Amino acid sequence: MKIGILGAGVTGLMTGNLLRERGYSVQLFESESKPGGLCRSSVVDGFVFDWAGGHILYTKDREVHDHVTRIIGADQIVESERQTKIFYRGNFVKYPFENGLADLPKSDNFDCLAGYIEAAFARRNGASAKPSNFKDWVLWRFGPGIAKHFMFPYNEKIWKADLASLSIDWVDGRVPDAPIEDVIRSSIGIPTEGYTHQARFRYPRRGGFGTLTDRLAETLGEDVRLSTPVLQVRRLGSEWEVNGERFDRVINTIPLQELYRRLEGADPTARAAAEGLQFRGLVSILIGVDGPEPTRHSWIYLPHPENGPANRITHLANYSPENAPPGKHSLLAEVTYEGDLRVDQRFVDDVVDGLHRSGLVDKKKVVTTAFHKSHYAYVLFTHGFQRNLDTATHWLDSIGLHTAGRFGRYEYLNSDQCMRRAIDLVDKHFPPVKSN
Ligand SMILES: Cc1cc2nc3c(=O)[nH]c(=O)nc-3n(C[C@H](O)[C@H](O)[C@H](O)COP(=O)(O)OP(=O)(O)OC[C@H]3O[C@@H](n4cnc5c(N)ncnc54)[C@H](O)[C@@H]3O)c2cc1C
Repeated sequence: MKIGILGAGVTGLMTGNLLRERGYSVQLFESESKPGGLCRSSVVDGFVFDWAGGHILYTKDREVHDHVTRIIGADQIVESERQTKIFYRGNFVKYPFENGLADLPKSDNFDCLAGYIEAAFARRNGASAKPSNFKDWVLWRFGPGIAKHFMFPYNEKIWKADLASLSIDWVDGRVPDAPIEDVIRSSIGIPTEGYTHQARFRYPRRGGFGTLTDRLAETLGEDVRLSTPVLQVRRLGSEWEVNGERFDRVINTIPLQELYRRLEGADPTARAAAEGLQFRGLVSILIGVDGPEPTRHSWIYLPHPENGPANRITHLANYSPENAPPGKHSLLAEVTYEGDLRVDQRFVDDVVDGLHRSGLVDKKKVVTTAFHKSHYAYVLFTHGFQRNLDTATHWLDSIGLHTAGRFGRYEYLNSDQCMRRAIDLVDKHFPPVKSN
């Protein structure tokens, strides 16, 4: 049985590997010249460059953890302690913000604490109902102080959207939630542990995060067809055609709207729903710097415009010492965008200038820069998102076209969850092929 897989990001590659193990013949179609999608990396002048911003290996899923360890090799993985901070008006504030209030100037600390207590009382007395838009939810959950000083500026910077236009479907497990006692302790300077999620994380020793997808792709060899965009998908009775080639089944992992644009005879309502799904792009900027890594930081959030366009920087040399040449280190800056964005050296210089002004890098010591744009990087949870998603995916389910992945099913997934989705899809729909 021959299976066509659309896209060779981690979801497509993992699915291909599992199907091959079960005796299926697979063919992956990938538009780019390198596999890996958002997990791709390269090495520029000796500096590791993760193409879609800072990525870490982290999972609570034992099977996926073991699989990743097998693929990369236990001795080829470095484990580190997460040291994450928020850069706030020249100071490093503990992450999450509500566990680091004592690091703020006193009057901002007071605003945040007073607002947090006010919001907690209002919720406890039933004086305020849980809002359905993200902007009001932030005020309801954190109060006006934390909203003003951190949550609003940071979320506006990353989502490039009016926060009232976003739903709250994505916040569980993504926006940390601290008990009020911890927030009071943190405000008066008693250390609280706060967010223990990803307290330790892993990363490939060599080659960047993309080593994961490089290894997955290597085992598939020529079954991954690179620089081969999916142009047309057709259903022919119980069979399928991709770019004119016959398949028994097709599994999609490319963004849903991109699939519908190529799918012959697609239901117009489902196609319109897919077009209604919103997303944000990302520019990942590598900044190679002379001198050893000066901090123990893993990554830093940059909520304020005064620090430039980047919303986050990653200190990649603290993930693996082999991420930079000896005596050098790097920063990986992330800038999100809506629609399209012209990125050239001036744009990169602007990002570096913002970090230089903030004291986060000395631009005289910058020895290398590079950038990469990922058009589909973040799912945007707008109102009506779930209705559109259900309409778009139910129709595909009804015609037997499997779809999975971050944009293949519009889920806010990390790579480990993509691997889990691949395992579940194969377990559910593709029993091992019996050999005679
Ligand atoms: C800023 C950021 C930070 C992240 N941090 C982490 C992290 O720390 N840890 C973690 O595990 N995960 C992280 N993730 C998530 C992770 O990158 C994704 O979950 C994962 O890479 C998604 O894989 P995918 O295969 O579903 O999609 P993609 O990687 O998007 O793959 C889809 C593939 O389809 C191809 N394609 C598109 N259109 C066509 C076409 N017409 N024809 C053929 N091919 C096509 C694309 O080129 C791509 O290769 C992060 C993501 C972002 C944006």
